[in-house]
Amino acid sequence: MSLLESAQDMRDELIRLRHSLHTTPEVGLHLPITQEKVLAALDGLPLEISTGESLSSVTAVLRGGRPGPAVLLRGDMDALPVTERNSLPYISSHEGRMHACGHDLHTSMLAGAAHLLAARREELAGDVVFMFQPGEEGYEGAKVMIDEGVLDAAGSRAVAAYGMHVVSAMLPPGVFSSRGGPIMAAADTLNVHVIGRGGHGSTPQRAQDPIPAACEMVTALQTLVTRAFDVFDPVVVTVGSFHAGTVDNVIPDDARFSATIRTFSKDSRARIKQRAVQLVEGIGAAHGLRVEASFGMGYPVTVNTADEASFAGATVDGLFGPGRFFVAPQPVTGSEDFSYVLEDVPGAFVFLGACPPDRDPASAPYNHSPEAQFDDAVLPDGAALYASLALSRLSADRATA
Ligand SMILES: [Zn+2]
Ligand SMILES: [Zn+2]
Repeated sequence: MSLLESAQDMRDELIRLRHSLHTTPEVGLHLPITQEKVLAALDGLPLEISTGESLSSVTAVLRGGRPGPAVLLRGDMDALPVTERNSLPYISSHEGRMHACGHDLHTSMLAGAAHLLAARREELAGDVVFMFQPGEEGYEGAKVMIDEGVLDAAGSRAVAAYGMHVVSAMLPPGVFSSRGGPIMAAADTLNVHVIGRGGHGSTPQRAQDPIPAACEMVTALQTLVTRAFDVFDPVVVTVGSFHAGTVDNVIPDDARFSATIRTFSKDSRARIKQRAVQLVEGIGAAHGLRVEASFGMGYPVTVNTADEASFAGATVDGLFGPGRFFVAPQPVTGSEDFSYVLEDVPGAFVFLGACPPDRDPASAPYNHSPEAQFDDAVLPDGAALYASLALSRLSADRATA
């Protein structure tokens, strides 16, 4: 039986597991119910399983029939603090929690890959690390798992790592997409506190008004983006919060604003951090105001290794035939903590279109929406791709290369 046929054969189990996970979504680093379901799904397989110390992760190592390096496959498991607005038979039973980013599919597909590969372990020249990760949605779960040793779980550092992400819109169903280089943005936060001295609105000369200076900072940040950064290495600065004052005739003591900052290269990320803080402090100083500016670091840029991204594309072609892989023309502006894995290990992050057939990918509610829906039909294909990436990467000729 081919890998794809074996994957199709386990379709019902994959759907059962995914629906079961979907009904009990958990948020953050501690997902005890999810962890239990994953352990049950892996039960009986010839795996070396360990669980996380400071998070409810599951790391499983499959030893191949022949010696060789290790590759890592990652699936994230956490949900979002969203109240589901779908009328599906397997809707969330946890109030205010929903698998709105499709991580229930990733978990199910990765468990499926463990079954597929366990049945083919003799073909593997090397080991496979299955990384079931909590806390992707803002909790740096990948970083915690790296600190707890997931990259070396097989006894040596993984030589390649692959992650997958389903999308409920934008891509046609069943189509995989990736690209070499940046695939997702870094997302950081600039926090600015402008401190002046309050007074009567009629006599500004007797106060130190923070508001005009803070407004100047907001527009100067946009100018900074266009004057100091390469248009082909984009930077997005959006001031999404701005607060000062109470009524029209009182000058407040201070003003505060914060901005989300998206970048697509290490260089731009480091430079905007330095230049944005320098800019707001400089404007404050020019007006005789004190400025407290801080830059909160979010997830780094997710950067695919060029070779691994084309290997992933070739693996899709080999498995499903032509027309199923699409080279993304540009990265997306969301962010991902798989970025931490790709900072340490070469690899690729691949998107998979999972829009249900009764919706249009161009207009369907996207990931994180309370109405997002993901089609079960992609589960066998996702499991097969995970397995095929490991099998091909650890085939004898590549492993010795
Ligand atoms: Zn998400
Ligand atoms: Zn996600």
